[in-house]
Parts: sequence; C-alpha cells; structure tokens
Amino acid sequence: MTDFAPVPAFALGPDIPESGFVVQELGGGAYFVTQGMINTMFVVTKKGVVVVDASPFLGEKLLAAVEEVTSKPVTHLIYSHAHADHIGAAHLLNRDGLQIISHEITGDFIKEAKDDRRPLPTETFSGRRKEMDIDGVRFVLDYSGDWHQAGNLFIHLPEQRLMGAMDSFSPKNAPFFRLYFSAHVPAYFDAMDQMLEYDFETVVTGHMALPGTPEDVATNREYIHDLRTAAGEALRTVDLREAAAAAKVPADNKQAELKVWMDAVVARAAELMPSWEKRLGGTDIFLADNLNATAWSVFID
Ligand SMILES: [Zn+2]
Repeated sequence: MTDFAPVPAFALGPDIPESGFVVQELGGGAYFVTQGMINTMFVVTKKGVVVVDASPFLGEKLLAAVEEVTSKPVTHLIYSHAHADHIGAAHLLNRDGLQIISHEITGDFIKEAKDDRRPLPTETFSGRRKEMDIDGVRFVLDYSGDWHQAGNLFIHLPEQRLMGAMDSFSPKNAPFFRLYFSAHVPAYFDAMDQMLEYDFETVVTGHMALPGTPEDVATNREYIHDLRTAAGEALRTVDLREAAAAAKVPADNKQAELKVWMDAVVARAAELMPSWEKRLGGTDIFLADNLNATAWSVFID
C-alpha cells in the first residue's frame, strides 16, 4: 500500500501518547479529546460534565479524559446523531440520572437499531432548534438539514464560541469517502454555509486529531465547490453512448453502460480538478468517491 501520497505535515495531529488520547483545553470549561481517528468534546459545568457523543473508539478513554480535568460526574450526554461509531460506547456513561439529549429522529433510529450500547435518549426535541442552559452553560442544538444523517445536530456553545458538527468535514483534510456519506448531498453543501453563520472560534467535527476553525470550514466549502464545478463540467462533456462504445459495452447491458459512463464522468472530473494537495490531506484517497457522490447529485438533485 504505497500508492498514497504522504500525509502533509499540516494535516497531522498531535502525537498520541501511551494513554491513547489527547485532551486539549478550548476555554470556558470546554475540552477537545481525540484518539487520532475519532474525536469529540465535553464541557465542565457548575455541577458536572456535559459530554457530546461516546465513541467506542474512545471507549473508557473518554472517561479517563474527563477525569484528567475534573472529578465532577458526567451528568448529560448529547447525541450528535445516531451512528454507532460516535455513540456506541454511550452505555459506558449510562447510570441513574444521566440525561441523554438528542433530536427525536436520532431517538427513532436508535430505537430501530436495538443496540444495547446506545441507550435511548431521555429527552428529545422535534423541529429545528432546542436551546438549553445546563448548569450555567448555554447550548443551542440545531437540526437544519440532513447533511450527514437525518437528525444530525449542530451543537453551538455561544459563550465558548464553540461548535460541534460531528461528521461534517475533517479540518485540513478532504471529506471522507462520498462527502462523508451525506444523507442528502445538497444539504451537505448548504451545511458549510450554515456553519459559517454561527459565531465560533473552534469547531469539533468528530474525526481525525484536529479541531477546526471557521477558515477550515471555508476551505472545505471551497474544495467541495471545486468538486461540483468539475463534476458539472464532466457531466456536460462525457457522453453516455460514446463512453459505452469506447468500453465495448454490449448494447443490451444498460446497467454496465451507466456504470462505465459514471466512471468516465468521474475520471474526467478528476482531470478538471485544480490541485489541492498543498491545502488538504487525503485528496488523492477520496477524490473519486467524492466526485462520484457529487456528480450523481448534480445529475439528479
Ligand atoms: Zn456518522
């Protein structure tokens, strides 16, 4: 596996020590915690700790990270969305009195999953916004579109100027795979604009070892707009019949035609993309996947 470009220095996070995690103070009682591939955030309040998500990749390390900065108990858990890679260790935090908050749709997904590792939320909300004061810390939970999974939240802490936007993008890196598996690709594009409307200094996005800034959001937005421009141009110039004929697809095999055509669209779009490797890591790894998702969206949305 030597076909990949080396990870650029700017995309590398901190070295992860033997403990398996790094905690970084974000101000106002808020902390970022990462184990290298998965990250999240927690906030120390007057009475306890509010944790966002509980990933099985962090597992017990999340509690160790909390204990590194406070002896207060975890009183609240906010689910950013229902995916098990982010909340599949919630059972480790679960005890009498723990309040688990999520969007109602997230609660429905968890009910459907019947997964003991993901306890049901104790409190859900429907619609667009829930504002809470938890023991002196203000939280704004916004569901503004299914940019990753229906029910996914922006978690804004106005006083800390902090955003949680799990699985929205990876600071200093290209989005994983198919624009991070967007439930709805146009919503993914909108999400970058929406995020930039909040007042924040730091954004925690759920993967890799670095928190981000509004500039990182803007960079991701610029990158995905380049993907969309390239995909649109490729769709205009790559002809389905020509692509199928060039690949000698039998005339009765319509599915193969479609596959060959989209592969040709992606290949053409990749040629049209400006160079990004000095600005983002992982562009070589995920370019074809992201162009495929973008091209289908341009074609059908
Ligand atoms: Zn997810």
